[in-house]
Order: sequence, then C-alpha cells, then structure tokens
Amino acid sequence: MNKIKREQAKKIKEYFLSLCKEPEKQKNMAYKISDACLACGTCKEACPVEAITAGDIYVIDADKCIECGTCAAECPAEAISL
Ligand code: SF4
Ligand code: SF4
Repeated sequence: MNKIKREQAKKIKEYFLSLCKEPEKQKNMAYKISDACLACGTCKEACPVEAITAGDIYVIDADKCIECGTCAAECPAEAISL
C-alpha cells in the first residue's frame, strides 16, 4: 500500500515539475529568422530589446526576445516567423 502511494506521489511530483518547466518550452517558441533574410537590418533597428544580432543572416536571441512580433511585421522579406 505504501509503495502505491509513493508511486502516486512520484507521478504527481513529476506532473507539477513539468508544469513549472512550461515557460522554458514557451521560450523555445521565440521568433526565428530564415535563410530568406536579406541582411537589411530593419528588424535589428525595430527590436525594442536588442535581441537581434547582425550577420550574413540576422539571428534572434531567444533568451532576450519578448515575442512582440515587431521584427516579423517589419521584415520586407517575410523571413521572420514563430
Ligand atoms: S528585416 Fe528581415 S531581411 Fe532584414 S535583416 Fe531582418 S530578417 Fe533579414
Ligand atoms: S519578436 Fe520583438 S523582441 Fe523578439 S526579436 Fe522580434 S522585435 Fe525583438
């Protein structure tokens, strides 16, 4: 009987721990820039939190991105999406 309760308690604990990890999963949903990027710099200038780095194609830092969508709306090449 105690063994069953321990297993149930373990499953409940795992369930609540998985709920606590949900924000990390959402972070992985940050906007991304595809190979269609023209390196024009519009998104970098538009980003309110300086989450975009210049390069051959531009890159979004998922840890800084607040998912406001401004860059995707401004991109002339439609290279930015979730
Ligand atoms: S606005 Fe679009 S095309 Fe311009 S640098 Fe950003 S992702 Fe690339
Ligand atoms: S979604 Fe907003 S915060 Fe994230 S990179 Fe684009 S402009 Fe910056």
